[in-house]
Amino acid sequence: VTRAVVIGGGASGVLAAVALADRPGVDSVTVVERSVRVGPGLAYGTAAPHHLLNSPAGRMSAIDEEDGHFVAWSAAHGTPVAPAGFAPRRQYGDYLAAVFDDLVGAEAGRVTAVRDEAVGIDLAPDGAVVRLAGGGALDADRVVLALGNPPPIGRGATARVLAVADPWAPGALDGIEDGSVLVLGTGLTMIDVATTLTRRAPLLRVTATSRGLLLPRRHLDAPVPPGPGLRPRDASLGALLSAFDERLRAARREGRPWQAEVDGVRPQVNGLWAALSVGDRRRFVERVSRRWEVHRHRMAPAVAAEVSALREDGRLRIEPLTDARAFTAVIDATGPRATAAPGWSRLLDGLIRSGSARPDALGIGIDVTAEGAVRDAAGSASPVLWLLGPGRRGTQWESTAVPEIRQHAVALAAAAA
Ligand SMILES: Cc1cc2nc3c(=O)[nH]c(=O)nc-3n(C[C@H](O)[C@H](O)[C@H](O)COP(=O)(O)OP(=O)(O)OC[C@H]3O[C@@H](n4cnc5c(N)ncnc54)[C@H](O)[C@@H]3O)c2cc1C
Repeated sequence: VTRAVVIGGGASGVLAAVALADRPGVDSVTVVERSVRVGPGLAYGTAAPHHLLNSPAGRMSAIDEEDGHFVAWSAAHGTPVAPAGFAPRRQYGDYLAAVFDDLVGAEAGRVTAVRDEAVGIDLAPDGAVVRLAGGGALDADRVVLALGNPPPIGRGATARVLAVADPWAPGALDGIEDGSVLVLGTGLTMIDVATTLTRRAPLLRVTATSRGLLLPRRHLDAPVPPGPGLRPRDASLGALLSAFDERLRAARREGRPWQAEVDGVRPQVNGLWAALSVGDRRRFVERVSRRWEVHRHRMAPAVAAEVSALREDGRLRIEPLTDARAFTAVIDATGPRATAAPGWSRLLDGLIRSGSARPDALGIGIDVTAEGAVRDAAGSASPVLWLLGPGRRGTQWESTAVPEIRQHAVALAAAAA
């Protein structure tokens, strides 16, 4: 392998560049990012200082086998955070940008960034040409798609009130100053939206609604070691759920927090997921995933305290939807749509249309091998085209958070280069 091109310069793109640059066989790494800066991407581009990471800082290193790297960088830059603490997300975005800039500096011409949008990939058996919106093109031996999360579907757009289809779009929440706001979704995005709006407009009321009305749980103030994980009697969803129930009962008996049991299962998730039948995966998504996700993706304690105070004051209500017309604005916080859904990425649409990529069996993401090689319409793994990040969700359920993306980046680089 000589030339690697990474498309997308968010967390996944940076982690891919770090891992690829570490391989001696790679002559050049080019990151194509359409926005101003490589590093923050969508998740860590938020300017609001109260938007905190939902993982402890000690788990957020961008460098494999250097767990303390983010913590040490934060201390050196005058914004210290303890390994068990929760840093602002924008601080993490600055960190990722610094990691990338340092790599560019240290590798003197071997690692570079191109500010442009990749709009097409012409694939050959042993290489590719990446076409750019600006008219240019890049020759590559390996291409890594690190395109990130698609925007939400934009539910609520038919309500006859101000509708915000994508709360992450720049300035999307500007001008919502008073009245009562309906937020569709009760997950972490709703919490970002509710805290932002109520901090800015003290008289504003927020009602959040979803099918199950489940709110993310909170992290423990002091971390505890992860539990032992599951030993299910077979690879079915039923066996997994009963093994997990058993663990929770044991934890309760022994006075250990449930958070430890969830954290103990996390490293097993992709192996357990791969062994499930497609029918069981579908049943998990439809019936179990929401409950799992609110326990797995938890709020920082400070955020949880703010949410509790808002609920006690009646400024945030979590309740079933009655009449959307009673609100002055409706905001879609239901989270990203499926990566495989058409219409959000010209690049991905083209790859699926030409048969170079296909949706996974559940239609959530893109079908890839365990190392991230993209499968074509016939199911053959490409030696050239790879994918990293949330788009792997259907094949690897745990693929959206930094600790997993970092591991996946290292495995991808080893397999691809
Ligand atoms: C609000 C939010 C908060 C989160 N908080 C945490 C957290 O605290 N801890 C954690 O571990 N995980 C968190 N996550 C999970 C998150 O998915 C990952 O941590 C990570 O940020 C995903 O990065 P990414 O690079 O895959 O995607 P993105 O951040 O979406 O970046 C993708 C990048 O690709 C670029 N791009 C896309 N298509 C093209 C193209 N065709 N040409 C050029 N550029 C392109 C985009 O401009 C963008 O910069 C959070 C996610 C969200 C949405």
